Amino acid sequence: MTNKIDRRKFIQAAGAATAVSAIGMPSLALGAGKKVVVVGGGTGGATAAKYLRMADPSIEVTLIEQNEHYYTCYMSNEVLGGGRSLDSIKHGYDGLKKHGVKVVIDHVSGIDAKAKKVTTKGGKSFDYDRCIVSPGIDFKWEKIEGYDEAMSHKVAHAYKAGPQTKLLHSQLTAMKDGGTVVIAPPPNPFRCPPGPYERASQIAHYLKANKPKSKIVILDPKPKFSKMGLFTQGWKDLYGYGTDNSMIEWHGSAEEAGVVKLDHGTMTVETQFGEKVKGDVINIIPAQKAGKIAFLAGLTDDKGWCPVDLKTFESKKHPNVHVIGDSSAAKGMPKSGYAANSEAKVCAAAVAAMLSGKDAPTPSYVNTCYSIVGKDYGISVAAVYKLKADGSKIQKMSGGLTSTKASAAVRKAEMKYAHSWYNNITADIFK
Ligand SMILES: Cc1cc2nc3c(=O)[nH]c(=O)nc-3n(C[C@H](O)[C@H](O)[C@H](O)COP(=O)(O)OP(=O)(O)OC[C@H]3O[C@@H](n4cnc5c(N)ncnc54)[C@H](O)[C@@H]3O)c2cc1C
Repeated sequence: MTNKIDRRKFIQAAGAATAVSAIGMPSLALGAGKKVVVVGGGTGGATAAKYLRMADPSIEVTLIEQNEHYYTCYMSNEVLGGGRSLDSIKHGYDGLKKHGVKVVIDHVSGIDAKAKKVTTKGGKSFDYDRCIVSPGIDFKWEKIEGYDEAMSHKVAHAYKAGPQTKLLHSQLTAMKDGGTVVIAPPPNPFRCPPGPYERASQIAHYLKANKPKSKIVILDPKPKFSKMGLFTQGWKDLYGYGTDNSMIEWHGSAEEAGVVKLDHGTMTVETQFGEKVKGDVINIIPAQKAGKIAFLAGLTDDKGWCPVDLKTFESKKHPNVHVIGDSSAAKGMPKSGYAANSEAKVCAAAVAAMLSGKDAPTPSYVNTCYSIVGKDYGISVAAVYKLKADGSKIQKMSGGLTSTKASAAVRKAEMKYAHSWYNNITADIFK
């Protein structure tokens, strides 16, 4: 992103967007007797369920989530860096129940868009007037030979937080000093574009303090990555990037030549050009697509994501079904937690209005993404968006990156903002 803004103007704009989201939520109470089923209780789904009840408490909202607890991916890299516990990123659903959301812990096995019915593995079925689907991502396992779901229990992707985070963390702590950590980021598009690079930073932070002879090799199928200038500057400031003693090596590729093969026996990965790299710890983040239930429900296109009307997030494949978060093809928005949270509010306001026979309100959207590069060192990217007049894409109106020339005090403040952002967004979603 090259568009720079002054910080105060951005905060004003972001404040305005938040205000629109809050005031724009019509307290209609006109959807009485109407039923909404939300599939997936992660960032998008849990926000949508709560905000729908806030918009119109007469709507019966049922949230179906397969896990008892949700571990946020955001701040999971800080768990890897040793800065926080896994428990600190774990959230439950009692807060949503207080908002009158009916929470069902079960796996959704089908969405019948014609019969307007959701069915679960546990044998239950739920009728709906409208359904909101936010199942996150799934992996294209077939893209890397030798790496599949079973292998991910030995070689972690750690791109769905929880047990995967724990596995990677335990491998890092067990690694000898002088070991090599190989990270294989995915090709675009994928969940949290800065995620693999924040991860490299956090692992470097841990290694610098505990295993200083070790190194990290990033084998990227891309020639550049999100917040690249800020990350590489942070790596220079903290981890000797660009010198012979750099703790981080980044190998980008203009030819999309990332890792194509894993040999777990020898702990070696191979790139498309036959380059072999041995790791003591290997972290493979495979190419991504919409969550499995989106495919089963016929909500995806040939690119593997779900096309939606960007004003309401109603599926272009099936009426009365809305798709938000990472699974949606929300052109113009990144696949991030803050974006999923923002899309959920837009969608909840639209669904509440549509269920009472009104037009969906005019939306605005927001995204901010902080990354913690090391001790007292935060960076961020932020943007406020609106819908293009012809509805074809979500357009960035203002935003920007923190400056590469920022002082140490600003970097330190950014880290505090990152933690504060985390506390605020998780309260917004789950309380
Ligand atoms: C390492 C990492 C760091 C990140 N850092 C940031 C950050 O700093 N800021 C930020 O904004 N974003 C960040 N993200 C991105 C963010 O986590 C995702 O974009 C966000 O979680 C997307 O929300 P979602 O609702 O689409 O999916 P999720 O939050 O993954 O929720 C999907 C939910 O659906 C459930 N589900 C799926 N299928 C079914 C089914 N069939 N039945 C029942 N339940 C089902 C899942 O169990 C899950 O709880 C990060 C991601 C990673 C991996």
